[in-house]
Amino acid sequence: MSAEQLPDKKGFFGPYGGQYIPDQLKDIMNDISHEYDMLREDPDFIEELQSLYRDYVGRPSPIFEAKRLTENSGGAKIYLKREDLNHSGAHKINHTLGEVLLAKHMGKKKVIAETGAGQHGVALATAAALLGLECDIYMGEVDIAKEHPNVVRMKILGAQVIPVSHGLKTLKEAVDAAFEAYVKDPITQLYAIGSVVGPHPFPMMVRDFQAIVGKESREQFLEKTGALPGHVVACVGGGSNAMGIFTGFLDDKSVNLYGVEPAGLSFKEGEHAATISKGTPGILHGFFSYLLKDEKGEPAPVYSVASGLDYPGVGPQHSYLKDIGRVNYETAGDKEAIDAFFKISRLEGIIPALESAHAVAYAMKLAASLSKDETILINLSGRGDKDIDFVVEKYGEQYGVVL
Ligand SMILES: *Cc1c(COP(=O)(O)O)cnc(C)c1O
Repeated sequence: MSAEQLPDKKGFFGPYGGQYIPDQLKDIMNDISHEYDMLREDPDFIEELQSLYRDYVGRPSPIFEAKRLTENSGGAKIYLKREDLNHSGAHKINHTLGEVLLAKHMGKKKVIAETGAGQHGVALATAAALLGLECDIYMGEVDIAKEHPNVVRMKILGAQVIPVSHGLKTLKEAVDAAFEAYVKDPITQLYAIGSVVGPHPFPMMVRDFQAIVGKESREQFLEKTGALPGHVVACVGGGSNAMGIFTGFLDDKSVNLYGVEPAGLSFKEGEHAATISKGTPGILHGFFSYLLKDEKGEPAPVYSVASGLDYPGVGPQHSYLKDIGRVNYETAGDKEAIDAFFKISRLEGIIPALESAHAVAYAMKLAASLSKDETILINLSGRGDKDIDFVVEKYGEQYGVVL
């Protein structure tokens, strides 16, 4: 079955995905699904989204040959797909624009979501401002204190940031609170999920909105080098930037694909978020996929130095691609990611997001194991402005940054 034919009508990628939600929500998800099925074929919707990608986001993002990083790694040539150059600084704007445009076409007044580090919140608030919808972002009080610049950005953009003060006051509680608010009024609001996760149709829709990255990459790489890349590498949190770039190459059997999960500090419970590498299948947030569980079978606590990667689940299509052996799932730890963060900053003048630094870390190792005539394309999912204060405070001295 070719890549675009998945998922099936019920939202399954093999055994993964689906809709494990109350019946009341099934009706709502099916409405969204129905509307999306029409819009994805509608030339006006397609043109509206494409023109926003072009004139607002600044697409296509370039592919850049990282010559000094290549030389330093020793081996395959490394290229970067520059999603860090998108308006608002990461790949997330590709799917939030799609989601908010969908909401607008459905006559919704408001988009709502949770956010952890605030990246999804900012990307959604950006798209909502542009398209004139209200935006409510649920955020744990602990995260609000930690992620001050993103809270300020969301408020400047006109979003309401709603503090969540129960439990651990972080992402999981924020998901619960956003979900509760959504169930109360699913008619005037759309819950805009932040990655290729959640019940059908979100894993499919978010993938489709991100697929522009893979489509551009394939064309650009062919044009630039006369061939397809031998290897494509992307970091995996929920898995949206990886699914975006992989979708362009799934049917090209010569292209090796690598998803890089965060190994954090160690593979002890609570010290990593390598869901596919270390998890087992289960249900979380309305879908069936690989999942990190504690001994009771509940979602395990997770950690990564990159807060955009610390999710105990993963998009269902990744689970399927793992099982059929189409994508290799690898890991990079905090230390390797920080090292890669400084390397690419100092060798290329590009400060990457800590999430993207995980892909860079693995790609450098991979490059060293390959010959000079091979090529690697990294999806550089975002820029690192959001991370600089944290990195310098915690690791600056080790890397000679003295303030
Ligand atoms: C949120 C984020 C990620 C992780 O999300 P995916 O859905 O796995 O792509 C990766 N990179 C950046 C820059 C992010 O903001």
